[in-house]
Amino acid sequence: MQNFDYYNPTHIVFGQDRLAELDQLIPAQAKVLVLFGGGSVKRFGTLEKVTAALGNREVVEFGGIEPNPQFETLMKAVDVVKTQGIDFLLAVGGGSVMDGTKFVALASKQEADHANILFHGFNPVPATEALPLGCIATLPATGSEMNSFSVVTYNDQKFPLTSPLVFPKFSLLDPDFTFTLPTEQIANGVADAFVHVIEQYLTQPVNAKIQDRFSEGVLQTLIEDGPVTYQSQVKGEQDVEARKNFMWSATSALNGLIGVGVPQDWATHMIGHEMTAMFGIAHGRTLAIILPSLLRERRAQKHDKLVQFAERVWHITDGSDEEKINQAIDKTEAFFNSLDIVTNLSHYDIDEAGIDTLVANMEKMGLTHLSETGDLTLDIVRKILIAAL
Ligand code: NAP
Ligand code: FE
Repeated sequence: MQNFDYYNPTHIVFGQDRLAELDQLIPAQAKVLVLFGGGSVKRFGTLEKVTAALGNREVVEFGGIEPNPQFETLMKAVDVVKTQGIDFLLAVGGGSVMDGTKFVALASKQEADHANILFHGFNPVPATEALPLGCIATLPATGSEMNSFSVVTYNDQKFPLTSPLVFPKFSLLDPDFTFTLPTEQIANGVADAFVHVIEQYLTQPVNAKIQDRFSEGVLQTLIEDGPVTYQSQVKGEQDVEARKNFMWSATSALNGLIGVGVPQDWATHMIGHEMTAMFGIAHGRTLAIILPSLLRERRAQKHDKLVQFAERVWHITDGSDEEKINQAIDKTEAFFNSLDIVTNLSHYDIDEAGIDTLVANMEKMGLTHLSETGDLTLDIVRKILIAAL
């Protein structure tokens, strides 16, 4: 296992009927900006309940944060913060709203060069101050509710950013707020969380036994309860226990714990972000297209871990190592398909010319050496995408 620091200050408030506790989680004197997306929280009454739970505090609302939050929209929220003297941000929504709120938290404390916040990649943003923020998560998927990451779209490109200053002070995870999700968002969330774990697990072995087992536990829970959650959503039923397990799995997949002490890949995400920016395919769906193809292409580099994945996660015991790997990748693809996610690029009318443009864009972004070993070049990215057609 590699050396590591682990720091995660986010207070998780998990379970049903916890909203009344919001009053104790936010300073009594705070003037609160409630940030939300395209309106689902208004339509389904969540916003009304949240505002009631905020009691007598002064509350200002900022709606309209779009999926894959746009820099320009977020800068409008920064203006509201500055003109209204806001001192606490409350994100009510999915990853896009939570990520957008993190950017607003940083940008509100900066006078100029706001776009510069986006250009530090996975190095911490060199900021010394951010507004405090809390989250009410309505979509289990990204882990944004318990991490210090954010992804913001600027000039049609997606930029990841991180800063310890934007860990949420608290995040309320109540499964009841997720029953209004469109079925495809449940599927996307399961796929996103699954691939988050894979990016931190299917990497060079470093004898981090406990980390491997944390990851395998999250993967197996997603394999069991992801489809149960999806099917109950399709039928309009409320399987609360499966939903809770899925919700906490999604948070655990990217709250930092399983990723410390091990190498991390993130190639699938880097390619996926470009695919979303260029073709508008939802984040979770891009990952489900790329991952099976990437694993087939990278089976030699990932050999030992793929065998472990086959045996421990998919319980495949028969056959040679190569057969186990084949089956594990096929089962992973079938898992995505069981959530009604199509894993072919051609389904989205993307052809070789589209792939070439995507690869050229990645080159422009400097994304030329991906994966934990840095040896996944753009020629290999192209091969992976052609195989995914
Ligand atoms: P999202 O973009 O936040 O939301 C997708 C859709 O779901 C929106 O249209 C939203 O509608 C709707 N929605 C959310 N909650 C709902 C509910 N309870 N009921 C009905 N509809 C609901 O999706 P996401 O997958 O959570 O976030 C994706 C973003 O996170 C991407 O930009 C991705 O790059 C980023 N990401 C971040 C991290 C991280 O660590 N921070 C990790 C992975 C990905 P409304 O807008 O109307 O609410
Ligand atoms: Fe993701």
